[in-house]
Amino acid sequence: MKKDLRIGVHNSIEGGVCNAVFEAESLGTNTMQLFLHSPRTWQFKGISQDDARRFKVEVDERDIKPVIVHSSYLIHPLSENSDLLGKSKKLLSEELKYSDLITAEYYVIHIRGNKKHDLEVNTKNLFNFFRFLPEYKHVKLLLENSASGLTSNISNLVYIFNGVKEISVVGGICIDTAHLYQAGYDITKKEGIRKFLSELGDKNLVKLIHLNDSKTEVGSYIDKHEHIGVGRIGIDGFKTFFTYTNFHRLPIILETPRPSVEYDIKNLRAVKEDIFGVRISRGKGKYKR
Ligand SMILES: [Zn+2]
Ligand SMILES: [Zn+2]
Repeated sequence: MKKDLRIGVHNSIEGGVCNAVFEAESLGTNTMQLFLHSPRTWQFKGISQDDARRFKVEVDERDIKPVIVHSSYLIHPLSENSDLLGKSKKLLSEELKYSDLITAEYYVIHIRGNKKHDLEVNTKNLFNFFRFLPEYKHVKLLLENSASGLTSNISNLVYIFNGVKEISVVGGICIDTAHLYQAGYDITKKEGIRKFLSELGDKNLVKLIHLNDSKTEVGSYIDKHEHIGVGRIGIDGFKTFFTYTNFHRLPIILETPRPSVEYDIKNLRAVKEDIFGVRISRGKGKYKR
């Protein structure tokens, strides 16, 4: 069905950023996502010039593109707490700086809304939060839809995007299929996809797909990822989703559960063979974790 599929997983940086590239290669993937450091801590020592240079060489050699960085979970641009806001600003600018240094194309972030404010005020506050960011050579920031809260609603997400898109680093939207389903868009059916697409308006805003099956039911607002084909969306659901959206032309990243690297191999196989009907040879499996 699709020969030029760009597909990858969230790779581990254990042992250094370059290890993520070797892991991606061993899985036979041609795009990748990574954290730059532990996503649940404020500490980030940065990446040395040498490591950044090597990373770029390894990625170029293997044509693993695009490279996507996922932001830390702690960054909260709409917090009321000035201490948290200050730390968020510092960490966001550090992560963007190093994403740009390793020539990552995208940096994905979830925006938690502030319940004290409405959509308009939250959007203005986000604009003011992002405004201090400089221009970058490579990296573009993508806003991801969530399973619950402010950005689980696609109209809200688009409204927010439109409110901050003047800022040069802001580049588009990332759609997570599990979050979409959990937020009440039944993407296994034509009507659900139509609702999603009509709220989205311009399909070109979407630059990246997080492909995850959902452990929880449609409209659960509970974020639990499941292996591809095993969850509530299922293989047929994903086929329907891609048929009506054409989003298989975009880079696809799996964030499915990862008890071991074997599960990545299984999930990649499910996507390539079962969803897209691409026959693949067995992964080389050189990489051991
Ligand atoms: Zn995601
Ligand atoms: Zn999730």
